[in-house]
Amino acid sequence: MNRTGLILEDLWHRKILNAYWIVTLMFFAAEAVLLLLGCIPSVTAGDGPEDWLRLGIPDGCILLLMLAAQTWLRFEPKYRKQVVVGCGFLLSYLFYFIIQPIVDGAQMALLLPVLISVVYFDRKLLYGFGSLTILLYCLIYLTERSLYQKPIQEFIQIQSVFIVSIMIGHTILVRVKEFMRHLESVMKSEQQLLVERTISDKLLKIDALTGLYNHKAFHEYLEALLEQCEKYQLPLQLAIIDIDNFKKVNDNYGHRVGDVVLKEVASKVMSTMTPNDFAARYGGEEFAIIMADKTLEEAERMAEQLRERIARTELPHTVKPVTVSIGLCNFQQGDDKESLFRKADMALYQAKRTGKNKVVTAGEDAADYAG
Ligand code: GH3
Ligand code: MG
Ligand code: MG
Repeated sequence: MNRTGLILEDLWHRKILNAYWIVTLMFFAAEAVLLLLGCIPSVTAGDGPEDWLRLGIPDGCILLLMLAAQTWLRFEPKYRKQVVVGCGFLLSYLFYFIIQPIVDGAQMALLLPVLISVVYFDRKLLYGFGSLTILLYCLIYLTERSLYQKPIQEFIQIQSVFIVSIMIGHTILVRVKEFMRHLESVMKSEQQLLVERTISDKLLKIDALTGLYNHKAFHEYLEALLEQCEKYQLPLQLAIIDIDNFKKVNDNYGHRVGDVVLKEVASKVMSTMTPNDFAARYGGEEFAIIMADKTLEEAERMAEQLRERIARTELPHTVKPVTVSIGLCNFQQGDDKESLFRKADMALYQAKRTGKNKVVTAGEDAADYAG
């Protein structure tokens, strides 16, 4: 059983013991009233001290038993359930022997341990205490029969009530087990659905070839981030990375090698970015990175590091090393998605036009690069 289960069960031990206390106090109150009214024959008839002892001893035993159970629950973590049910079992017999001369149907008190076993949803306890109750009542009946000539019908009636109660308890436990199984299967299928939904959500956002975010996810993230940047004046840089002469890689070595190159570049992008960066495969052989916690100088350093790493990458099928050109721009208040992309695109265009395999940062004025 886990920790929460143990705490819950502990709570139930205490609740049941409190219920015993309530029953005990009610029992003592009823006894006191009956005494005052003179309805307890064994006491009123003899009026000697031994008659008072006849009530006082079992009452004292009840109190001692309750205190013993209470102490066990307080100091001993083991066998608490057994102690609570066992206490109920002994209490029920003490109650029975006290009220049996006064009240008809006092035998019903003997059902207490059966009921408590059901509260615990414990089959072993139910069958154990159930059979013990049936057995002990046989002995009690035999004694009472010889003492008070009790009719056999009473024995049959009482035993039938015990058997029916145990059967009802059994049915309740079976139903509870069925219900728990049903609940478990519902929870499992809900969990399964959640996993499937998470996977399909992920598939919708991830590029299958490179494992980076796709174009759609990239735009969603950028839109959300731009709002925050505008609102709280946070820094943001956008880098667009384009593989140089990629068409030639495809033409010379085939599409499959082209795909291997794309994966290699993507893995370099992933290993270079920091936790607050967001990278996506933006198009065929284009990648984009949003940096959200850097100064422009740090972003430039990172872009340069990425360019160098890619240029140094050893690819099994290519003769010439693969290089990339990177266009970088800084977010300024008033920028929207389009203006940001225009700046980064223009910087990339500048990098391509001036020899490729380089990082170009867009100037403050995007029009610098027009044409
Ligand atoms: P530049 O240096 O100016 O960027 O030249 P480039 O050859 O890289 O650019 P271009 O736009 O002419 O060619 C891009 C190529 O990328 C064309 C296309 O076949 C290839 N491509 C796009 N997506 C994929 C892909 O998923 N796998 C492969 N193998 N190739 C792709
Ligand atoms: Mg391109
Ligand atoms: Mg290219």
